[in-house]
Amino acid sequence: MNETEMKDPKLPVSYPTEGSAGTTGDWRTSEPKFNREKCNRCGRCWLSCPEMAISHDTDDYPVIDYRYCKGCLVCVYECPKEALTEVPTEK
Ligand code: SF4
Ligand code: SF4
Repeated sequence: MNETEMKDPKLPVSYPTEGSAGTTGDWRTSEPKFNREKCNRCGRCWLSCPEMAISHDTDDYPVIDYRYCKGCLVCVYECPKEALTEVPTEK
């Protein structure tokens, strides 16, 4: 790294796009299950999903697009109301 780069480091930044890694196919082993009764519509799951597989319905409740969900379960861990739980993916 030269002197100019040290003063102004260029950091790699990537922005996910919908299904940036393609559709999941049948390899997912777990997935989030949504419980509308517990949800407070905070949006943390939407914000934290690295695949942008979560959108919202007209009432601002999350909607998971399982075509792109990779089953990482970040949304389950981020949900403050336990409105998302891990369930095995049915094969
Ligand atoms: S399990 Fe991962 S990929 Fe699937 S909706 Fe949750 S955060 Fe997104
Ligand atoms: S993080 Fe949990 S409580 Fe917040 S919108 Fe998502 S499912 Fe609902």
